[in-house]
Amino acid sequence: MYNEKGAELLKKVIQKNYEDIKLDNIYFDDNEFYYEFKINKQISENDFAFLEREIKALDKSICVKLLRISGVYYAGNVNNEMITRIVGKCFANQEELDKYIDFLADAKERDHRKIGQDLDLFCFSDYVGGGLPLYTPKGTIIKDELQREIEKVCRKYGFAKVSCPALADISLFETSGHAKKFNEELFRVKSPKGHSFVLKPVQCPHHTQIYASKLRSYKDLPIRYMESDKQYRAELQGAVGNSLSRVYAITVEDGHSFCRVDQVKDEVINMCNLIKDFYSRMGLWNDHWVSLSVRDYEHPEKYIGEKSDWDICEKMLEEISNELHLDAKRCEGEAALYGPKLDFMFKDALGREIQIPTVQLDFATPKRFGLFYIDENGEKQTPVMVHRAVLGSYERFLVLLLEQFKGVLPIWLSPVQVNIIPINMKYHDEYCKKIFDVLNEEEIRVSYDDSKENMGKKIRQSNLLKNPYTLIIGDNERDNNLVSYRKYGSDETYSMDLDEFIQFIKEEIKKR
Ligand SMILES: [Zn+2]
Repeated sequence: MYNEKGAELLKKVIQKNYEDIKLDNIYFDDNEFYYEFKINKQISENDFAFLEREIKALDKSICVKLLRISGVYYAGNVNNEMITRIVGKCFANQEELDKYIDFLADAKERDHRKIGQDLDLFCFSDYVGGGLPLYTPKGTIIKDELQREIEKVCRKYGFAKVSCPALADISLFETSGHAKKFNEELFRVKSPKGHSFVLKPVQCPHHTQIYASKLRSYKDLPIRYMESDKQYRAELQGAVGNSLSRVYAITVEDGHSFCRVDQVKDEVINMCNLIKDFYSRMGLWNDHWVSLSVRDYEHPEKYIGEKSDWDICEKMLEEISNELHLDAKRCEGEAALYGPKLDFMFKDALGREIQIPTVQLDFATPKRFGLFYIDENGEKQTPVMVHRAVLGSYERFLVLLLEQFKGVLPIWLSPVQVNIIPINMKYHDEYCKKIFDVLNEEEIRVSYDDSKENMGKKIRQSNLLKNPYTLIIGDNERDNNLVSYRKYGSDETYSMDLDEFIQFIKEEIKKR
């Protein structure tokens, strides 16, 4: 309602203040309004304040904020000429507008692209190509630490790590059904020597072949595998860019359990507990809801497997959801290719919904690959496959973490845990180097700022990099084998014996 008025007023104001407006059009939705037009004069964001004042002069009751200006093709067709588009948003009153301005400032501060650049975590290269993030040494530390943590938690729940190549023969994905369903998203790799492979878009089919490598007995089940590795999906070219949100190469953490039908329930419960455990440790368990993602009943051709199996699986997940008080909301058409799933939906720092952990039941894939185990009567039986992702895509998880915590990571995840600053290089350099060596030896991630800058600037820099602990070292520290430290976000300085500090930091790192 408001946005329609906003669009009309913007049009009036542009027509009044500029000459020769052509090819113009207004659009609006619940969220924003747009005015597109052709103009021979330069117009930019610098003109927004003036335009907003003019709109207010026409109608005192309206609160408008102009958000963006860009060039677009007339009628969205690349063969047409470029025109200008201004995007704005209307508010019921000044208070709501002020709230939105605060929200925009907060969003800018939380933007993972900005944080990633400020903290030097990842980069992109035109030579390598868009959608292919490169992790810097600092970003790699975060990724490795996340992997260590998730694997530690998963081992507790019975998962064993496996490792598979990025390439596979196309027959693997033809058998799994992915080649048909995700044909457009497959990267095909050919060589002049006649090789013809596919870059793995998922790792489930590979895992079935580790299961199939040995004869399995009913007593061996459940068998649980996990892997964190790159997967490749041919996203639309225009959709990728210099952000981690949409990429060609994603690093995915997922796992599979091969079990008997009578074990499925315990397996799903085990995985739901694992998800809760990990997200609680990460401080992200709060605001979430669960989707019971079932078939699109009108389009059964979108899925593989038999109807009777689907019925059993959907019923089973519903019972588990009730038993665990997950309060899952039934969402039709959201199931996976091979079965229904429980999806855990979180809200990111800006209130956008984000789905990461998932538990999926699959009766179909084991049948397609002819997997079996020998039951107590010596008969062949088909196992059930339960897929699960806990951390999911490292890229998406990193976006969630960085934006949630505004780049202030817990000490165990921080690329630099302790940064050392001498008060005077001339007198304190030697002792600082000694502290550096000792901490390094103790496997604490440490940096030493021995640049030419003055101390005040070094402290500010250490804060900008969000280092959890900054040591400030002078005569007193050197003469008494002490360190003085500041914790990120605090101006207070504490002193401690060097050995005592090492124990203290190690305890801090151990905490999650
Ligand atoms: Zn899977």
